[in-house]
Amino acid sequence: MALRPIHLLGSPVLRQHSDEVECVDDEVRTLVRDLFDTMYAAEGIGLAANQVGLAKRVAVVHAGDDPAVVLINPVIIEREGNEKEEEGCISIPDIFGDVDRSLRVVIETTNLDGARERHELTALSARAVEHEIDHLDGVLFLDHLSPLKRHMLLKKWKKLRKGQTGYVEEVSPAKRSRA
Ligand code: ZN
Repeated sequence: MALRPIHLLGSPVLRQHSDEVECVDDEVRTLVRDLFDTMYAAEGIGLAANQVGLAKRVAVVHAGDDPAVVLINPVIIEREGNEKEEEGCISIPDIFGDVDRSLRVVIETTNLDGARERHELTALSARAVEHEIDHLDGVLFLDHLSPLKRHMLLKKWKKLRKGQTGYVEEVSPAKRSRA
């Protein structure tokens, strides 16, 4: 089991548009395993590669009782419905905001054998997948909030981070679900 340090809000890699994976090799398979280990240690429901400092289009999701999902070069090919729910992020601990997401998505993703496959996801899994694909594009859940709400949460974040330096931290378990 290998845990990777988490990049927090402020780390430039979180704002990077991640690169496509050209070949699913052992390096990518190790990354996926480490992402799951790190996500479970953080008690999160999703984690993207750039949250551990690697701007690659790789992420994992495991929400509720749904099966775990490996995302490699994922794309959403269908969406349906809309729901506003509270969301958090492993890279922005203790900050939460209400975000609109689809209730159901169909995604196309590459599996660990390098083959493309389709998955249908609903509810929390759909939300987490959308959140992770946002990460791969350098987008954070804060970007979906109103400017006023975002400003308030960033103020809170600055207060919470006062006196702390750097943007990379070892994993710590969450108090509430986040991705
Ligand atoms: Zn996140």
